[in-house]
Amino acid sequence: MASHIVGYPRMGPKRELKFALESFWDGKSTAEDLEKVATDLRASIWKQMADAGIKYIPSNTFSYYDQVLDTTAMLGAVPERYSWTGGEIGFDTYFSMARGNATVPAMEMTKWFDTNYHFIVPELGPNTKFSYSSHKAVNEYKEAKALGVDTVPVLIGPVSYLLLSKPAKGVEKKGFPLLSLLSSILPVYKEVIAELKAAGASWIQFDEPTLVLDLDAHKLAAFSAAYTELESALSGLNVLVETYFADVPAESFKTLTSLSSATAYGFDLVRGTQTVELIKSGFPAGKYLFAGVVDGRNIWADDLAASLSTLQALEAVVGKGKDASIAYYKVGFSYNWQYLIMTTFCPDKLVVSTSCSLMHTAVDLVNETKLDSEIKSWLAFAAQKVVEVDALAKALAGQKDEAYFAANAAAQASRKSSPRVTNEEVQKAAAALKGSDHRRATNVSARLDAQQKKLNLPVLPTTTIGSFPQTVELRRVRREYKAKKISEEEYVSAIKEEINKVVKLQEELDIDVLVHGEPERNDMVEYFGEQLSGFAFTANGWVQSYGSRCVKPPIIYGDVSRPNPMTVFWSKTAQSMTSRPMKGMLTGPVTILNWSFVRNDQPRFETCYQIALAIKKEVEDLEAAGIQVIQIDEAALREGLPLRKAEHAFYLDWAVHSFRITNCEIKDTTQIHTHMCYSNFNDIIHSIINMDADVITIENSRSDEKLLSVFREGVKYGAGIGPGVYDIHSPRIPSTEEIADRINKMLAVLDTNILWVNPDCGLKTRKYTEVKPALTNMVSAAKLIRTQL
Ligand code: GLN
Ligand code: ZN
Repeated sequence: MASHIVGYPRMGPKRELKFALESFWDGKSTAEDLEKVATDLRASIWKQMADAGIKYIPSNTFSYYDQVLDTTAMLGAVPERYSWTGGEIGFDTYFSMARGNATVPAMEMTKWFDTNYHFIVPELGPNTKFSYSSHKAVNEYKEAKALGVDTVPVLIGPVSYLLLSKPAKGVEKKGFPLLSLLSSILPVYKEVIAELKAAGASWIQFDEPTLVLDLDAHKLAAFSAAYTELESALSGLNVLVETYFADVPAESFKTLTSLSSATAYGFDLVRGTQTVELIKSGFPAGKYLFAGVVDGRNIWADDLAASLSTLQALEAVVGKGKDASIAYYKVGFSYNWQYLIMTTFCPDKLVVSTSCSLMHTAVDLVNETKLDSEIKSWLAFAAQKVVEVDALAKALAGQKDEAYFAANAAAQASRKSSPRVTNEEVQKAAAALKGSDHRRATNVSARLDAQQKKLNLPVLPTTTIGSFPQTVELRRVRREYKAKKISEEEYVSAIKEEINKVVKLQEELDIDVLVHGEPERNDMVEYFGEQLSGFAFTANGWVQSYGSRCVKPPIIYGDVSRPNPMTVFWSKTAQSMTSRPMKGMLTGPVTILNWSFVRNDQPRFETCYQIALAIKKEVEDLEAAGIQVIQIDEAALREGLPLRKAEHAFYLDWAVHSFRITNCEIKDTTQIHTHMCYSNFNDIIHSIINMDADVITIENSRSDEKLLSVFREGVKYGAGIGPGVYDIHSPRIPSTEEIADRINKMLAVLDTNILWVNPDCGLKTRKYTEVKPALTNMVSAAKLIRTQL
């Protein structure tokens, strides 16, 4: 029985690629240095998979930045503004597209399905010229072959590539049909396929993850058309069409499994629970099934016994029938008898695989030397998942490694029964939530009145989102405290000093509702995870987010509770430094959930409710400590939206409910703020209203006022709202006039008494030399408009 890996992390076990890239970009090392690091990483990955016994090892899943950008380079679809003149695309053009250069901005980046990975969005139009301009796929295939590893080259499929693109500037308004470019890109695909064949490839993998989305008949027809068009080019090759991240809808499944040029189909059987049923109800005879049973999206060890039984059930569907004897004859007499008999019964048509590329999980557990050994026994990162896939394949073929399976079963059992996982009290409290809506007793306009009596704010109150610039010095203090190089006293006094500086600055700027600046926080999720029980942290569990940027999500392994107050000391300290209202600053339950590796032994919403109960305690303690304004950030609420529309309502319901749980029992006079990043809210505006916060601050300035159009179209909104008046992602300092102009546009659609004035997001990544003038102008703009009302 054979094994396959959809794709593998590129960064390296210790983020070697990140450091090589950044040093190259800083001009501290040469292109050869960078290539050397990349070549070594690829070689070690291929060798590792080959040593583990993987039969179908991917190539071209490495990338210097992003696999979609690699495809853009392969197709020569470089937007005009990069002044590329043709020929093989080198680092210059490639990194200019990815990151921009001195004169030209980068291409847009967006989230890769519902993962935290971001890809570079192709910009295509009727004038885009396509030509084969990056031989990376073929080069990587040859490179592996020279090392003795015959790989499966992986390409992003032509239809997914187009469906993930956006119309180039100028044609977007006219609604340019991107799929009309299919006939222009397929000739390049044909060239690549021909070269791969010539280099000796016997397999090719097309990633077509868009097949899991809601696609209309027109888009599905494009799949059939594309693969029919490629059929003769592909003849002689085994063709795997790989899908992932969800189940494939029945209609799409039909289209996919009817592609005559495909010989194999890959499915995510972790998220795609319904796919198993579809396969059982009809899978084309003679085709390979690549069964993605090992989860590429989390860090949990696979339940091997469960996967094995899923695979055995599928074997009955795929592995039987005429094909067994065909395989027998094909194999001929060049193999020994024992192998022949095995082949007769197990025709290798069922291939054990991962649910998706392993790039969405951490790299290698061996580097986690500080992790508690019990928790460690429950985990598997990419390197361990490769071994799991292989063990499953061997077990199916009758060569079960009993000791390995027994150890796995023991770890699964210990996870189920460990007292560290289960906290009866938390379970009970979460169960008791059922049946109630958890809404504050009074409606929002009455609450706002009560709050205003206490807070006495001017119209168009000004505030910021939470963080202030994090200086090198500040990071050093935190690092040294963590490493126990400075005492707690020294640490506390350094942080207090920083808070004081931020408070004084805001008073000077005459901001109305202050923040403490979050100097004690490294990261808005990690900070809370470290203080909640049920969370574990890794030393090297990095996952690529975009380019060289990686994140290290906490692991939620058990029932979540809050043993002690987490932010009360700092908020109280900050409030004591000023007579203006000081916002308490928390990360909300949905954001903590969406930015962590979440346990897979209970539904996500249950874990979210538990976090909500922990944050609720914190909210109540802040209120008791005299904090009158509390902001609960839900930066990542929209990010968790499921891929398919049919699942949106359920998610939004429990996500919004979780938020309400955190503040349902506080006084009318305590003002609850929330903050959200990303500008695309229009489709979830009713859920946002349903959160029932008193004030929401939203990223807005990069969205061409898309947000405001919702209100223009008549959505009733009665709570406070602060659409960001300037973009904090850019070092540019907005003028007073420009901000005033923005505020006026907002006033045209929103009531004066609900509008707040604030930047788009936190100021953590900016410099004081940018923040001071920008906030000065923001406050003057608010004051200017107040005089005109
Ligand atoms: N309060 C956080 C900050 O200001 C919010 C960050 C975010 O929304 N990503 O940094
Ligand atoms: Zn934000």
